Amino acid sequence: MQSIETTIIHKGISNQDSGAVVSPLIQSTTFLRDENGSFVKERDIYSRASNPNRRLLEEKLAILENGTEALCFSSGQAASIALFHTIGSSSHIIIPDDIYYGTRLIIEKLYANWNITFSIVDMSNLRNIEEAITLDTKLIWIETPSNPKLKIADLQEISILAKSKNILTACDNTWATPYFTQPLEFGIDIVMHSTTKYLGGHSDILGGALIFGKNLDENLTLALKDYQSIGGGVPSPNDCWLLNRSLSTFFLRMQRHAENAKKLAFFFQNHDKIEKVYYPGLKEHENHEIAKKQMKNGFGGMISIEIKGDEDNCLRVASKLRVFKHATSLGGVESLVDHRRTAEGIHSVSPVNLLRVSVGIEDIDDLLEDFSQALS
Ligand SMILES: *Cc1c(COP(=O)(O)O)cnc(C)c1O
Repeated sequence: MQSIETTIIHKGISNQDSGAVVSPLIQSTTFLRDENGSFVKERDIYSRASNPNRRLLEEKLAILENGTEALCFSSGQAASIALFHTIGSSSHIIIPDDIYYGTRLIIEKLYANWNITFSIVDMSNLRNIEEAITLDTKLIWIETPSNPKLKIADLQEISILAKSKNILTACDNTWATPYFTQPLEFGIDIVMHSTTKYLGGHSDILGGALIFGKNLDENLTLALKDYQSIGGGVPSPNDCWLLNRSLSTFFLRMQRHAENAKKLAFFFQNHDKIEKVYYPGLKEHENHEIAKKQMKNGFGGMISIEIKGDEDNCLRVASKLRVFKHATSLGGVESLVDHRRTAEGIHSVSPVNLLRVSVGIEDIDDLLEDFSQALS
């Protein structure tokens, strides 16, 4: 069988007229019917419902996560909302205490009038989830590694627990990416991605996706598809084209992200100005054993550090960096640091001296040297 790395590069839209090797960008919003006026089978009708560039992307994402199908959205948030919306009012949801800030805002703010209740728990301990389950619990939303403290939740254990209680599980796999973790392999029902991050990889495309596991309830699948095609929060053909191109270098980029991150994590661990390092690849990481069990090919490209001293000192280090840029977001080829406390605002639970580091694919010596000078 052909390796996924090869398939992702070669899968494309054929273009017999031009003989182009690279898939064409098809901007058309509408597509021809046949001579009888019927819609042509397996062809698109109208771009909100489907179009060639998006279908190609959805097929590739399903392959990457080993899922049955993928649905793409205009952002990660739009993908998450699709699921929360479809789960419906009067549901109880369990979310991680260290969840991506924006996801919590969806439930707290946008769905405040929907009678959706939620429990916030530390998911690195299964017992916390078990205790939070109520008769109304419809969904356990997981994020591993979490943001920004890189806690690891045991996907297999959570999935077994959820199945025994007939509760749906979804995992935000934006940080781990299928290169390091494939949640569906551990029995998780749905994977969510902000493709804005590693899958896009160049900090120039917003996007999101939901990918379905094998035994997902068909009614839910259909409802999510309806939400996508009727709701219309979909990416443009151009964004899909760009993202398809990004995926060709996905495996190469991820390998380098992980190599660089590992070296940088060791450097931080041995640096006397650093108080704490959060990286699941370190033996000292609280959930290292679970990380070893469910992560492959390394431990990702994200690190968080707490720098000795106060908030001002932490921000000063961020501003002294030259190769690392101080900006939010992550997963691009360029290295970034982000002071989560100021990015998230007053409700942030991030420590004041924490910097989140998105390790890029630059030369590692330049990255190490940059932090050396900024910390000195
Ligand atoms: C960025 C991010 C999101 C939100 O995605 P957008 O594309 O910005 O809408 C969700 N979860 C995680 C873990 C993220 O990093």
